[in-house]
Amino acid sequence: MGLSKTIWTNPSEFLARSMPDAPVMFFSPAVLQATARRFLDGFPGFVTYAVKSNPDRIVVENLAAAGIRGFDVASPEEIRLIRQLVPDAALHYNNPVRSRAEIAVAVELGVKSYSVDSHSELAKLAELVPAEGTEISVRFKLPVQGAAYNFGAKFGATVELAVELLREAAGHGFIPSLTFHPGTQCTDPAAWETYILTAAEIARDAGVTIARLNVGGGFPSHRLNDVMPRIESTFAMIDLAATAAFGENRPQLVCEPGRGLCAEAFVLAARVKAIRDGAHVFLNDGVYGALAELPMIGVIDRIEVRSETGALRTGEGVSRICFGPTCDSVDRLPGEITFPEDMEEGDYVLFRGLGAYSMATNTRFNGFGDLTLATVLALRG
Ligand SMILES: *Cc1c(COP(=O)(O)O)cnc(C)c1O
Repeated sequence: MGLSKTIWTNPSEFLARSMPDAPVMFFSPAVLQATARRFLDGFPGFVTYAVKSNPDRIVVENLAAAGIRGFDVASPEEIRLIRQLVPDAALHYNNPVRSRAEIAVAVELGVKSYSVDSHSELAKLAELVPAEGTEISVRFKLPVQGAAYNFGAKFGATVELAVELLREAAGHGFIPSLTFHPGTQCTDPAAWETYILTAAEIARDAGVTIARLNVGGGFPSHRLNDVMPRIESTFAMIDLAATAAFGENRPQLVCEPGRGLCAEAFVLAARVKAIRDGAHVFLNDGVYGALAELPMIGVIDRIEVRSETGALRTGEGVSRICFGPTCDSVDRLPGEITFPEDMEEGDYVLFRGLGAYSMATNTRFNGFGDLTLATVLALRG
């Protein structure tokens, strides 16, 4: 993605000057750094960033500038990226399944923390990674609701297996820890409480004092106008639960938000290509582009529409079916979207809070999705 040197006042200034015909991501470094500080100030432990949610170097650099010193990485590519941009950062390789070649890269680049959820992958690590000073976090899962979709379907040991793995990891001489991920866009703080209480039971049953408990990501971003994420109350819940569950053996806490850190710092502007016979809206971006997540976790109704001169459309809301630009019929936003009735062809639809799983998963399918990144002083206006 091209990065311009110019910093624009706000999205409408950029849109009116350039009238872009491809989608634009507006980025506010100030919002990203303020969000990072909110986590650093509020979370009762070590804050790491889940790189996959938005691995653009400008995101990593701004998080590092705000004081983020730990990164959750899942591949050699992500490990190399962070080593290059933030050389002294702590890397947590929390993808519980890795090839031998991938493990070799991690060892070579000084990764000291790995998650596991199986005997076979723990055996691989024990063979290839020197135990001294290396943390193994056993990842467990519970049938807990609260997230936008079920992460436990792919990763996480059952509680019984986690007890065995924790004992085994300690037996190999690794630093034993526990981790879980409640699932993305987890709007129910109680999910963390259940997981933390269970983590204490696992440690007790294994007879192991854990060094750290990584409470995952899943901190929700603001997607719906009427539903504000309760980040601070989630932090407070995590803090209380950790003390209640572990007492004097309370481990150091770690979190690894992706979405919670990066989503709010970006606004997507997608152009109205056509309003077909006054009914269906066709945008120049869709589910194969920066709006990939919408069919999976629901629409974002924090939308505004601007004319090509940047003026805000203020007409009554009307519901319309909305398609993306590709020739694939799957390329449709879920349900119907409410747009102002005075919206016209050539206008821009701005989606707020779109920094996570958008640029990272943009496919360029059918030749669309040539995203421009524009840095702005403010995302409003
Ligand atoms: C994806 C992922 C995260 C980040 O999830 P968000 O919902 O973006 O906060 C954190 N931890 C693990 C293990 C993940 O796979």
